[in-house]
Amino acid sequence: MLAMSSCLSHCRHHHQVRLHRGAGPDRPWPAAASFATPLRRRAARAHAMSAEAPPGVAPAEPGPGTATQAAILSEMVEDAAVWCAVHGLVVGDRENPRSGTVPGVGLVHAPVSLLPARFPTSFWKQALELAPLFNELVDRVSLDGEFLQESLSRQVLYSVWCSSDIHVELRFRLPPSTIDSQRIVCHAKLVTLNFKRNSVLCYLTKQVDDFTARLLEIHEKMMAINKKEDIRLGLHRSDYMLDSETNSLLQIELNTISTSFPGLGSLVSELHRNLLIQYGKVLGLDSERIPRNWASSQFADALARAWSEYNNDSAVVMMVVQPEERNMKTLAQVEAEGKINTDGTLVVDGRIVSVVYFRAGYSPNDYPSEAEWKARLLMEESSAIKCPSISYHLVGTKKIQQELAKPNVLERFLDNKEDIAKLRKSFAGLWSLDNEEIVKSAIEKPDLFVLKPQREGGGNNIYGHDLRDTLVKLQKEQGESLAAYILMQRIFPKASLTPLVRGGVCFEDLTISELGIYGGYLRNKDKVIVNNPSGYLMRTKVSSSNEGGVATGFAVLDSVYLTDE
Ligand code: ADP
Ligand code: MG
Repeated sequence: MLAMSSCLSHCRHHHQVRLHRGAGPDRPWPAAASFATPLRRRAARAHAMSAEAPPGVAPAEPGPGTATQAAILSEMVEDAAVWCAVHGLVVGDRENPRSGTVPGVGLVHAPVSLLPARFPTSFWKQALELAPLFNELVDRVSLDGEFLQESLSRQVLYSVWCSSDIHVELRFRLPPSTIDSQRIVCHAKLVTLNFKRNSVLCYLTKQVDDFTARLLEIHEKMMAINKKEDIRLGLHRSDYMLDSETNSLLQIELNTISTSFPGLGSLVSELHRNLLIQYGKVLGLDSERIPRNWASSQFADALARAWSEYNNDSAVVMMVVQPEERNMKTLAQVEAEGKINTDGTLVVDGRIVSVVYFRAGYSPNDYPSEAEWKARLLMEESSAIKCPSISYHLVGTKKIQQELAKPNVLERFLDNKEDIAKLRKSFAGLWSLDNEEIVKSAIEKPDLFVLKPQREGGGNNIYGHDLRDTLVKLQKEQGESLAAYILMQRIFPKASLTPLVRGGVCFEDLTISELGIYGGYLRNKDKVIVNNPSGYLMRTKVSSSNEGGVATGFAVLDSVYLTDE
């Protein structure tokens, strides 16, 4: 008879599959089930003890294996792979050249963990509670165009009070021929004239980076025409890690554009529930401890409600996607086929668009030519509901995350002191590179920091020796590129040995997990229609890898197993 225990020690958050025989779980079966080869196990243990391993990692004491347990585990792996295939928990197979070009061809099960990650219920509740607060914060910040412009560019060269002085200033400082209504190019830098009441603020903008500057340009054009978005839709995801040093839930970042995996994330929770319904007894795990995950239907519901608020039965919801996807439009197609009617309606390929949902547009690679930028501007200028609007997009940048963490900035946007305290508690240390003291500390102890450029989508952050070298280089240059990065306190989650399944093969490795809580938000003027936590995404990555992207191959999809700890 097989009995079970769920976890090796309190410090590991994944379930070590260890089966027991006999009457009591404290009589370990001589063969702890594991997929790891002895060599791999030694490597994992060596890593756990190395200086690079996050604090709190205790190496596992592996036991010998038996044929029975190995059989059960390989049965689970097979069941998992079949479940994935039957329920569409699949992704394009990069090894198949026809994948992505022929529908239904070249699919492979998504990389997943075999069992859900342990997560304390108290932190789970805290993360859920934060979702509507972050949604509201995004909305409030998005309305403050000046804040976004000022934070994302570096700034005020001089300001002039009283309109009569303006011409003197401009003639004196800038050749009139370069004046382009609101914006001027001066010494190859962007200068923004901001007409407000009868004053002029003249910013000499140090561009944060070229890509963000282009987004800011669209945002600025919308400010210039006083564009208002009455209906605002946000499909966000706030990502967290549990910091083992401080035993606290700390935010990694807030995503406001193309938040990934609401669909597959929901399915992984179902996969794990099914595996535990089948094998839970033998593993000592309760399938009911995996929270239900309705992310895909909740996001779909928010999109449908936005469509309904737009109030045009013949209008469509348009998804903007990267090339090699189907049934949607790329930015280039929108540019070629799109126009705006005189009433502001967006029409693409002859169809009125009520909602534009961006699954592309967050990366410079999505804009290979001016056509894509034109398309982005066209959509922004239209009356279609944008998910996200340019303002929501900019609120999700890492620079804004860092600005919001400064003292007294949240107070600018929110009134409720308790809400402010809850949000602030989830902020890790965040600094701009203007802060010389922190830059010095980061050069001395690079392992305690992460250096982040203004990019989304994984694979961009800088760690360890590279972080030190980059900071030293940036310091020497003392140029504008300093503004293109932020420094963040490095968060150290506890690591656990986890069975991971990729390409039908199961292997065990030391991993850490990152929890994302989706948040749907929809409002029409003063009426908030949706503001909910909308499901979750757990991603688990090998702890030796710095980056966390599933699509980029660093992590696997996972779900949550709530514990009482
Ligand atoms: P991206 O926009 O590329 O997703 P993130 O800020 O989410 O940028 O960083 C990517 C990954 O790097 C995260 O998923 C996480 O695994 C890791 N990471 C980011 N910030 C930290 C941090 N402060 N401490 C530890 N790991 C981090
Ligand atoms: Mg991220």
